[in-house]
Amino acid sequence: MHSNCVRFIMGGRSKALQNGLSLFLKAMKFSAEKHRHQRRKDENASPYINHPIEVANVLWTIGDVYDVTTIVGAILHDTIEDTNTTHKEIIANFGEEVLALVLEVSDDKSLSKQERKLHQIKGAPFLSGRAKQLKLADKICNISDVANFPPLKWSWQRRIDYLEWAKAVVDGLRGANLKLEKYFDEVLIEARKKLALEKD
Ligand code: NDP
Ligand code: ZN
Repeated sequence: MHSNCVRFIMGGRSKALQNGLSLFLKAMKFSAEKHRHQRRKDENASPYINHPIEVANVLWTIGDVYDVTTIVGAILHDTIEDTNTTHKEIIANFGEEVLALVLEVSDDKSLSKQERKLHQIKGAPFLSGRAKQLKLADKICNISDVANFPPLKWSWQRRIDYLEWAKAVVDGLRGANLKLEKYFDEVLIEARKKLALEKD
């Protein structure tokens, strides 16, 4: 069949797909540019952008989350918190809904680090459905990293503490996406097993 015929038959659905992909690619380009000088905290200092891509990938492949706002939000989720990105830039490029989602998953930098950790636990149950799912995927990726590619110089105890804190946050997110919650529990079991073997 001629490709123009396929395009015609797909009709409106293909337009929506095209719009979604355009926004997704724009977000990838934007986030890669914003995080270009940053590295993750692991031994190999992996490129920062790998993390938001993995969060989006977990949402899509594990959580069956196909909502464009959530996927684009995942790609951008650390831009406000960790780069010079402004609210205006996010609105101009991705709209109000995406900004609202990114802000929901960003820590308030005016709080101390300890207050931020507590705030995440207390605030989790009050997040929107989209933000809960994004946070679930973020915590899945981070506990997997803490187990397998931990921040350089973190003690064994600090890694354990991180797993327990992430679990406390996730317990407040439950009910948003059963598949992601189940996967978090599995990754947590594996992470605890790995750390138990590493204890000297
Ligand atoms: P964080 O606990 O905030 O660091 C973890 C965060 O770094 C993750 O949530 C993740 O956030 C990001 N990250 C980047 N690379 C990795 C990686 N390879 N693996 C996992 N996460 C990664 O550290 P802070 O230095 O900001 O310290 C915050 C708090 O930690 C302090 O308030 C204190 O309470 C506590 N602390 C605990 C200690 C202990 O021994 N238990 C010792 C010192 C501090 P994202 O996805 O957003 O990028
Ligand atoms: Zn993150």
